[in-house]
Amino acid sequence: MWQNFQNYSDYDNFCKLPFLVKNDIITTKIKDRTFVSEDQIKMYSSSSWTSKNPIPSIIPHDRFGYDWSPDFPWLDKNLTKNILFLISWTSPLLMWQLSKLDWIVPIIGNIWNLKYTAAISKEIWINGIISTSTILYNFLKELGDDFKKEDICWISLWGEYSSNLIYKAFKKEFPNAYIEFKYWNSEFHWKIWYRCDHLAKSSKPNVFHVNNDVLLEIIDEEFNTVSEWEIGDIVITSIAKRAFPLLRYKVWDVGSIRYSKCECWNDYLLEFSWRKNSDFFKIHWITFKVEAIYDSIEEFMNLFEKRCELHIFEKELNSKISYFCKMNLKILDWSEDLKNDQKWIELIEKTISRNLIVSANKTYHDLVEAGLLEDLKIDFVDKWGSRDKSINIISHIDE
Ligand SMILES: [Zn+2]
Repeated sequence: MWQNFQNYSDYDNFCKLPFLVKNDIITTKIKDRTFVSEDQIKMYSSSSWTSKNPIPSIIPHDRFGYDWSPDFPWLDKNLTKNILFLISWTSPLLMWQLSKLDWIVPIIGNIWNLKYTAAISKEIWINGIISTSTILYNFLKELGDDFKKEDICWISLWGEYSSNLIYKAFKKEFPNAYIEFKYWNSEFHWKIWYRCDHLAKSSKPNVFHVNNDVLLEIIDEEFNTVSEWEIGDIVITSIAKRAFPLLRYKVWDVGSIRYSKCECWNDYLLEFSWRKNSDFFKIHWITFKVEAIYDSIEEFMNLFEKRCELHIFEKELNSKISYFCKMNLKILDWSEDLKNDQKWIELIEKTISRNLIVSANKTYHDLVEAGLLEDLKIDFVDKWGSRDKSINIISHIDE
């Protein structure tokens, strides 16, 4: 079918192409999904794996390097020079690319010791930062007042979403900074979406323009295209020639598209949404996985119905952003009396909090101790919030 791609020249024909999901990539041999001859391949990269398939997939590329170039003239030779890197992976490839920009002086921070990095950052003049929302937020706590935050003119945040609250906190702390978001997926290194100058100044951090060499579809569970503003799964098709172009690829994210006049040339907006109903949810320093949630309540399974809903909330108090969760459980008839036993409820809450893994080797309780989450609360419900049994993680962030 892929060999006949040139025949899909109109939209009706294009719609006959089947949707592609991550598992298809993993289970198809590299040569069967490579669109250029072998001598045109300049690089292979590996993409992340899914919980269902723990093998990473190898992606062929017909060009070398990441499409790293900054979006804005803002990262200007005259303005930004000393850039602090606070990312977990300073890959050799990224370093090689940086070496081409010889006007940049990279400062490689130690993200495992942000206190130390904060201390040395005060000795060097820094005016740009590349990081993730999570690391930067934690770094801010270590920086204190004597760091010249007003000198930061450019911040590039990579690889994860930022909620509105966190974004506003950054705007307040770094009043002169131009904040750009680079959000991508490990299946593609090229730019699919971007924020123009105007969006960067005026919109929420999850609003992007889509590049004009990409076809975008938003679909519902039955694979039908949804209307403007409606939230659905994001499907992308690269219409530029590439070694592995991704055709009708169902990205893991959800969002909506709409027409809205922008001051730049591009009048379409893609707004990412939190994946509301999912078996996986990640925001900043927390990752919830359905398997981990069920593991955490396993020892109480004789007391509850075998079903659970985890509701995630975000709040700001005294300029500190925190997250808290409510777990909905339904008690079995015979244990109905326990519902009013406060001591017993607290014990259940504490135990689940210590059982629930929420990031690499850290439990919910660990993050409460670290001040990154608030206590887990349990609500015993008579009725489920959702009729769909498979909906286990429900986000209320940015609502
Ligand atoms: Zn624009």
